[in-house]
Amino acid sequence: MEEKQECEIVKDLLLNYIDETLSSTSTKFVKDHLEKCEECKKILEDMKQDLEETEKDKEEKNVDYLKNVRRKINKKNICIIIIGVILSTILCINAIVLINYNKLAGNMEIYLNDDITEEELNSIKNAILHLDKNAKILYISKEDKWKDLEEQFKDNKKAIEGVKIDILPASYKIETKLQYINEIEERISEINGIKVIKTNKDLNPYELLMEKILNNK
Ligand SMILES: [Zn+2]
Repeated sequence: MEEKQECEIVKDLLLNYIDETLSSTSTKFVKDHLEKCEECKKILEDMKQDLEETEKDKEEKNVDYLKNVRRKINKKNICIIIIGVILSTILCINAIVLINYNKLAGNMEIYLNDDITEEELNSIKNAILHLDKNAKILYISKEDKWKDLEEQFKDNKKAIEGVKIDILPASYKIETKLQYINEIEERISEINGIKVIKTNKDLNPYELLMEKILNNK
């Protein structure tokens, strides 16, 4: 075979020679040729190098891909954390609102008529204690109320200028639990001498908290 012709055949076989997919006869043929032909040997080296670089490129692309995936996962994690923080905050606020509601919704105030008798006063007290023996009952006289009012408006005395102590009702301030409120209301409404029963049970829990925050200011 002519040398040039042999070179052409070897070139066609080189890729398979690198891959080691040639028959043993062809492999031997290429090997023998390469030993005597510098040109083909050079082509083989170039091909090998090209292939290596392609492999390297592929690996780099894979690394880039992995980096991208990791970046996306990080973004996703941050989103999840932010959503988690927001949800926890909402839960926390709701818990505070509920705790506050349960505390304040158990408060009630009973405004008393001026002509209420000692017996009626005791009936109210007993009715409440009968339902909730731990209830706190505080009697607020007209005078106490007046002092409260003066204290409340100490910077703006004009606002209560026309108010006479006589129009202020005495009252019972009750601290019980929300679960007893309805029954207490029902029981004491049968007793004479009560002007008004004021409870917090129908107030919106959020309004109740806002009120508390504003009052504490
Ligand atoms: Zn050759």
